[in-house]
Amino acid sequence: MATLTTARRIVVKIGSALLVDRRSGQLRVDWLHALAQDVAMLRARGADVLLVSSGSIALGRSVLGLGNSDLALEQSQAAAAVGQIRLARAYEEALAPHDITTAQVLVTLEDSADRRRYLNTRATLGTLLGMNVVPIVNENDTVATDEIRYGDNDRLAAQIAVTVGADLLVLLSDIDGFYSANPSQDPSARRFDVIDRITPEIEAMAGDAGSGLSKGGMKTKLMAAHMAMTGGCGMVITEGSPNRPLSLLEQGANATWFTAQEDPQLARKRWIGAMKPRGEVYVDAGAERALRRGTSLLPAGVTRLGGDFGRGDPVSIIGPGGPLGLGLIRYTAEEAGRIRGCHSSEIEERLGYPGRAALIHRDDMAVSLAVETG
Ligand code: ADP
Repeated sequence: MATLTTARRIVVKIGSALLVDRRSGQLRVDWLHALAQDVAMLRARGADVLLVSSGSIALGRSVLGLGNSDLALEQSQAAAAVGQIRLARAYEEALAPHDITTAQVLVTLEDSADRRRYLNTRATLGTLLGMNVVPIVNENDTVATDEIRYGDNDRLAAQIAVTVGADLLVLLSDIDGFYSANPSQDPSARRFDVIDRITPEIEAMAGDAGSGLSKGGMKTKLMAAHMAMTGGCGMVITEGSPNRPLSLLEQGANATWFTAQEDPQLARKRWIGAMKPRGEVYVDAGAERALRRGTSLLPAGVTRLGGDFGRGDPVSIIGPGGPLGLGLIRYTAEEAGRIRGCHSSEIEERLGYPGRAALIHRDDMAVSLAVETG
C-alpha cells in the first residue's frame, strides 16, 4: 500500500483546531507556513496534492466578533462566508513562495451524490492537478443546510480522495491515531499501528470528538476510512499540531494506517461495471480496438445510439461482435446523436457550443483490456 513516500496522489485533511487558535480565533500562520514546506516537498517529488481544509467558520466567527457561543445555522453560514475568503488567501500566501498555484474548490454533498455533478467535480479537479495546481477543498458552508451538509470534513476528504483516484488520504488530527478506546477517558487505551479491516469490534471503540471546534471524532474517521479503503485509497491518522507533520509522518511518527483494499482504478471500474445501463452506444471495429487498448471513446467511432440517457449516466458499450462493457457518458442522448461519427474538431460546430473531446473518458469506463502479446 502507498506510503507518503510512494503515493502519487495525496489528499491531506486539515481540521479547524490545527489551523485556528481556539482561544484567540487567529490563524496559526507559522504552522501553516511549515505545512506549506511539506506540501512543496511532496510536489517536488511529483506527487499531486489536494488539501481539504476546514476553518472558515472558526476564522469568520472571530472576525465578526461572534465569540465562542453556539451559532444559529445562518450565523454559521455568515461566518463561513467571511472566513472562507481569508482561509483561501492564507493558503495562497503560504504556498506562493514555493511557486505553487492554489485553487479554491467548494463542494456540497450533492456534488458527489449526483453523477453529473460528480463527473464535473472530477473533471475540474483532474484539470487543476494536470496544471500542477494544489486545490484547497472545503464544504460550501454558505449554501449547505443542516440536512445536506457533510458536517465533518473527514468524510468529505474521503469522498474527494476516491473521486480523484488518490492513493493516500492523510487525516491530520489532534490525536496520533486510532485507539482501542477514547484515550481522554480511558488511560489504558492502546493505539493501533495498522487496521486492515473495519470490524464491528473496531467500530465499537470509536468515540466522538473531544475538542470544541471539531465535529468529527473517530466515528466519522472510521466512516472516512471505510469509504477510502473500499475506493482503493489508503488512509492514515496522525497528529497534526507539531510543525511539519507530514515530514514527521515520513520519519515514522506515531500513526494508524488503514490499508486500501485494491487499487483505485480497479475499484472505480468495478463500481462503474456494476451500474445499471440507461442506454447503448454502438461502436465500430476501430473504436473497439482502441477501447481495448485503454483509450477514451471519441464520437468518431460511434455508429448508433440507443436509450434516453442524460449526462453522466451509465451506458453499455457494444462493439460489432457484442457488448464490451460500461461507461459513464459525458453527453445527453440528444447531444450524442448530433456528434455521433464526427471528428473532435467538428464537435463545437455540431453542438453550437464547445464540448469535451471524449464521449466516454477512459477513466469512466469498465472495458476488459486486450492482453498484450509478443
Ligand atoms: P480532528 O482534529 O481530526 O478534527 P476530532 O476531535 O474530530 O479530531 O477527533 C479526535 C478525537 O476523537 C480525539 O482527540 C479523541 O478525543 C476522540 N476519540 C474518540 N474515540 C477515540 C479512539 N478510539 N481513538 C482515538 N481518539 C478517539
